[in-house]
Amino acid sequence: MIDYSDKRRRMVREQIEARGVRDLAVLKAMEKAPRHLFVPEVMLEQAYEDSPLPIGSKQTISQPYTVAFMTEALELTGNEKVLEIGTGSGYQTAILAELSKEVYSLERIPELAKLASKRLAELGYKNVQVRAGDGTLGWPEAAPFAAIIVTAGAPEIPEPLLEQLEDRGRLVIPVGDKYSQTMIRVRKRGQETARESLGPFRFVELIGEHGHRE
Ligand code: SAM
Repeated sequence: MIDYSDKRRRMVREQIEARGVRDLAVLKAMEKAPRHLFVPEVMLEQAYEDSPLPIGSKQTISQPYTVAFMTEALELTGNEKVLEIGTGSGYQTAILAELSKEVYSLERIPELAKLASKRLAELGYKNVQVRAGDGTLGWPEAAPFAAIIVTAGAPEIPEPLLEQLEDRGRLVIPVGDKYSQTMIRVRKRGQETARESLGPFRFVELIGEHGHRE
C-alpha cells in the first residue's frame, strides 16, 4: 500500500520548504491535506509530483508549490473570511479551510463545483461553501472578505473583487496574457490599494465578465 503521508512530507520538504515557503501553518496544512483524494483516480500515482495535473473539463489542479506560495502570500491568521475564485478540484479550498474561519469558493464549471463540494463535505470540511458561477463578479452577499485568492490567470484585476476586499485585506491574483502571468498581491488601506509583484507564473484562463472572453 502507498504511504501517502510519507509522500506528503517529502513534497513539503523538497518542493515547498526548499523553494522558500516559511509559514509554518501553511507547511502544516500542506502536510495534512490528502492531495491524492483531489485528483482523478488514474492520476493517484502522480498526486504528489512537482507539477499541475489535469482534473477534467480542460482544467488543472495547481502545482503544490503554487498552492503553498499563494496561500502564504495571503498572510492568514485563522480568523479570516476568504473568497476563492477557481475551486477546480477543491484542493486549494481545503488548504484555505485549514487556515481560516470561512471559505467561499466560486467555480465557473458546474460539474467541477459539484464534485469539489461533495469531496470537501466527505472529508469533513464544514467551513466551506462552494458555488458555481462567474467568480469575476465576486460573492457580494458574503462580502467583504479579509483575503481573496484567484487561481486562474486574469487579464486585469476584476473591479468587483477590489470592491469586496475589506480594509487591510489582501488579494492575490495572477495577471497577464493567456500564456504567462505575474502574481500580484494587492493590499487595501481605506480607499487606497498598494500592488506588489511576486514573480512569474502560468495558469489556465480566468474566463468571465471581468476576465478573458470565452
Ligand atoms: N485551485 C484549484 C485546485 O486546487 O484544484 C485549481 C484551479 S484551476 C488552475 C483554475 C480554475 O478556475 C478552473 O477550474 C476554472 O474552471 C476556474 N475558473 C476560470 N474562470 C473562472 C471564473 N470566472 N469564475 C470561477 N472559476 C473560474
